[in-house]
Amino acid sequence: MSLEGLKEACGVFGVYAPGQPVAHLTYLGLYALQHRGQEAAGMAVSDGEQILVDKDMGLVSAVFNERRLAALTGHLAVGHTRYSTTGSSTWRNAQPVYRDVGSQFALGHNGNLVNTEELAAEAGMLPGTVTSDSDLVAELIGSEIRAGDGERSDERQLEMALLKVLPRLKGAFSFVLMDEGHLVGVRDPNGFRPLCLGKLEHGWVLASETTALDLVNAHVVREIDPGEMVVIDATGVRSVRPFPDDVIEPRLCIFEYVYFARPDSNLYGQSVHSARIRMGEQLAEQAPVDADMVMGVPESGIPAAEGFARRSGIPYGQGLVKNRYIGRTFIAPTQELRAQAVRMKLNPLKENIAGKRLVVIDDSIVRGTTQKQLVKMLREAGAAEVHLRITSPPYRWPCFYGMDTGERGELLAANLTVDEIRDYFNADSLAYISIERLTASTGAARAGFCNACLTGDYPVPVPVNLRKDVLESNDIPIGDLEPLPRA
Ligand code: 5GP
Ligand code: SF4
Ligand code: MG
Repeated sequence: MSLEGLKEACGVFGVYAPGQPVAHLTYLGLYALQHRGQEAAGMAVSDGEQILVDKDMGLVSAVFNERRLAALTGHLAVGHTRYSTTGSSTWRNAQPVYRDVGSQFALGHNGNLVNTEELAAEAGMLPGTVTSDSDLVAELIGSEIRAGDGERSDERQLEMALLKVLPRLKGAFSFVLMDEGHLVGVRDPNGFRPLCLGKLEHGWVLASETTALDLVNAHVVREIDPGEMVVIDATGVRSVRPFPDDVIEPRLCIFEYVYFARPDSNLYGQSVHSARIRMGEQLAEQAPVDADMVMGVPESGIPAAEGFARRSGIPYGQGLVKNRYIGRTFIAPTQELRAQAVRMKLNPLKENIAGKRLVVIDDSIVRGTTQKQLVKMLREAGAAEVHLRITSPPYRWPCFYGMDTGERGELLAANLTVDEIRDYFNADSLAYISIERLTASTGAARAGFCNACLTGDYPVPVPVNLRKDVLESNDIPIGDLEPLPRA
């Protein structure tokens, strides 16, 4: 695992809107998707003749300014905010990825492929020639366009190339793509990462989350289906099915509800904020406790705390203040510095905490850095008791579909029982929501979820070489991908 801590899904955005300032709309869309990646930001804009790309390391607001946006004129665009899952954090890996193979195209990727090496080998690429899975996809598309030259009209080159390339990809991918005149959106057959379609008065928008549609004044048309590709141009929106029916099985990342997505987004048509409130209500039923105040760890723990308070009758109160100016990109190279970083981010409100028995709600425990520090800080601030309630089940399995949570050896719950974790945190009690209650809380229980990091049930098999890297570290015996018994 890299030194930068947890990585999360990227954000993608696309717009087709003749006569509109598409670069500015993309800027707004990316701004709304900033929480999905703060490492790099970029956009590609086309005026029908030529694609211009502007991208750089850093936050959306740092990368773009009025002058740079004004230089990007055109009527369609794709944009990206990045956190690296495959490939390191360098300018070269910033997106959109761009290629000129006679015709030009650009792509933005949210997710992570699990067969990158296999595909690169099949395509005869030398190791090191592609630096990320997204770069590889661009290579594959580029060679299909070159191979197909002359056989078909320019109009559908990108689409035809995609029909050849997409079925070969394994893993998680929500793509936005464009050539000079078309905007394309694609979701993998499991729909691990979200992607939705919106309508502007005179145009169309694609975005990772519905909140980005709000910001550009588009209304939500629908979510792109798992395994669906939409092609948008002057004639409107066309839906294409590049994958065989038997591989289509909806498995949206359940952590989108728990942590990644913004509360003001909808997923599977359900409000993420309301889902988090229900998670808290469910926890109050599943693991009640006598206490004086319920508090949430900002941000995602707050609505859950509201739900827990409502259901339990224990008053809700604010117990932590979050420094608003801390980005998630803060690099903490040692465990000690990571612990310090928690303090920089969250500070206890002593007058609200002193002498109280607290229920503290947070979204997840991965390495345990946050909770360990938090309990210590709350006790120092005078808490009488600290009861931790977590809105996800124990995180025991690494994610291979777009979240870089590291190796099994780093996952606290892969190594310790719940009681051991409670003692390690020095908490009075600790409870994790059950997978059944979490699934019910989404409000879309039957829609289909990935929960591999919580259950070990990987919807897309993880190749042995990937498993070696991250599953078999630190001498933890893991058997053949069998879930561990629940602690
Ligand atoms: P820990 O402190 O246990 O290592 O990590 C869990 C904390 O990191 C939670 O408070 C959660 O809000 C935050 N977090 C940041 N990025 C991620 C991520 O990619 N996945 C999960 N599950 N939590 C994350
Ligand atoms: Fe989401 Fe976990 Fe599945 Fe990764 S393994 S996609 S974090 S549910
Ligand atoms: Mg947190």
